Amino acid sequence: MIHCEDMFEACKKDCNECFLLFLKEEDCDPINQTSNYDNTALGIAIRCNSSKCLDIILNYISPSLKNELFTDLLFIAVGKNNADCLKILLKHGADPFSLNCNNSTLLHTSTLFDSKECLEILLNIPGMSKFMNIKNNRGNTPIEDAILNNSKECLKMLLNKLKNI
Ligand SMILES: [Zn+2]
Repeated sequence: MIHCEDMFEACKKDCNECFLLFLKEEDCDPINQTSNYDNTALGIAIRCNSSKCLDIILNYISPSLKNELFTDLLFIAVGKNNADCLKILLKHGADPFSLNCNNSTLLHTSTLFDSKECLEILLNIPGMSKFMNIKNNRGNTPIEDAILNNSKECLKMLLNKLKNI
């Protein structure tokens, strides 16, 4: 029984039952096809924290394409504090030590919108303490970015991590 109008709506509502049915249709492409608002199903899933649909998409596409998309998806998920999607990305093998085009780590990006749920996941990843002193292209460590972005919760968590290294 399909209750969503199309794969975009299914992704928005994280309705995995409908989404799977749409994916079986030949002309459904969650990576390249765009909605009226110019969003792909993948883009909608990552922005709406639709982790069930994201999981389906990552199972559906080729491993090489998945790897190609991982960095962008990680930074969007952490920037929006979409912790469920972050977990799915890590489950599929996305590298939590990725850097973006500004040489920012995911720790830096978590301070942009005070993404404390995502930061908590990241700080629990073994080896993340080595990332605490990395400077991005603006010359800031994650802690300096937390101060700059007035990200109070993330600053607390980062300082606490630094104490326990
Ligand atoms: Zn539905």
